[in-house]
Amino acid sequence: MKVPLLDLKAQYQTIKKEVLPVIEEICENQGFILGPKVESFEKKMSQYLDIPYSVGVASGTDAILLSLMAVGVQPGDEVITTPYTFFATGGSISRLGAIPRFVDIRRDTFNIDENLISSKITSRTKAVIPVHLYGQSAEMDRIMKISDKAGLPVIEDAAQAIGTEYKKKKVGGIGSFGCFSFFPSKNLGGFGDGGMVTTTHPALAEKIKSLRVHGSLKRYYHDEIGCNSRLDSLQAGVLEIKLKYLDQWTKKRQKNASLYEKLFKNHGLTEFVQLPFASPGNVHVYNQYVLRVKRRDDLRAFLAKADIGTEIYYPVPLHLQKCYEFLGHKTGDFPESEKAALETIALPIYPELTEDQLTYVVKNIKNFYS
Ligand SMILES: *Cc1c(COP(=O)(O)O)cnc(C)c1O
Repeated sequence: MKVPLLDLKAQYQTIKKEVLPVIEEICENQGFILGPKVESFEKKMSQYLDIPYSVGVASGTDAILLSLMAVGVQPGDEVITTPYTFFATGGSISRLGAIPRFVDIRRDTFNIDENLISSKITSRTKAVIPVHLYGQSAEMDRIMKISDKAGLPVIEDAAQAIGTEYKKKKVGGIGSFGCFSFFPSKNLGGFGDGGMVTTTHPALAEKIKSLRVHGSLKRYYHDEIGCNSRLDSLQAGVLEIKLKYLDQWTKKRQKNASLYEKLFKNHGLTEFVQLPFASPGNVHVYNQYVLRVKRRDDLRAFLAKADIGTEIYYPVPLHLQKCYEFLGHKTGDFPESEKAALETIALPIYPELTEDQLTYVVKNIKNFYS
């Protein structure tokens, strides 16, 4: 048996008949940049998330970059975020000449530790970026309270968290901005790059709409300096179709997570693997199913031999990346992030997995530890 980490070909087979005619229609019309397909998808996203404004951009990375530009982050400013995230979160801060001020993560959820944020706020802090890592919300009540008190906008990195709920609300509309990614491996993935900024504030939505087209709401009149960062019609066309199936796919991911839990418990494996902690009352969408395990690297090699795909998200926390040497951090600065980088492993969780495949994964983990 083979169990890849992700099988996008299996998903494509289920939507091919619907997607291909839409792609053909767009090609016949030759309208590729923004346009009615993008507007229609933006509307559907707003309905899905229950957030009034959605603005399609070129990627999840650009969603963060444009949000930081929109709140006025300047060279030399500081932005608070977690070092245990995909690089884009920190990279977008640095692209603007600002400085990422890292805050360590919670041991249970791997999300930014809200209790450590206050101590990192200085007079140069301009924003806070919590990341809803793996598909689980950060502790937004506390984060909003601390940020509001300091007058700081919050930009939610929701790239892994489409449909994730925090206290019955979908994430992306709690802070000033929500940033989504349609990178193919995200829960709602396009046929290429794509992203979206969401907000509940009309003026902020207008700002992002201006920034994505070189700061011009009226063509060839530039009120500010922006980017070229637009969602294209082909992606929007594909994504609008896939959005209809998102809840169904998410339910399958959640079902797979509960099946894993049951199997790990039944096999007496919980002393070797720490199951993902899903904070009660909130909805985890399992973009990744991540365990903290003993002898991680050996386990990974063992599973690879059994044709089971795994991944390490992420092997090097941002503060120890080569490009951030200039920040002067050292090993030990963010111990929970460093531990997570050494101890975690992501298992296949995608919706099309069969029960046999899941059982095969757990059996192999059982074999490794016995
Ligand atoms: C994927 C991802 C991004 C970047 O999204 P892209 O669309 O690949 O640019 C940003 N943050 C996190 C946490 C991500 O997982």
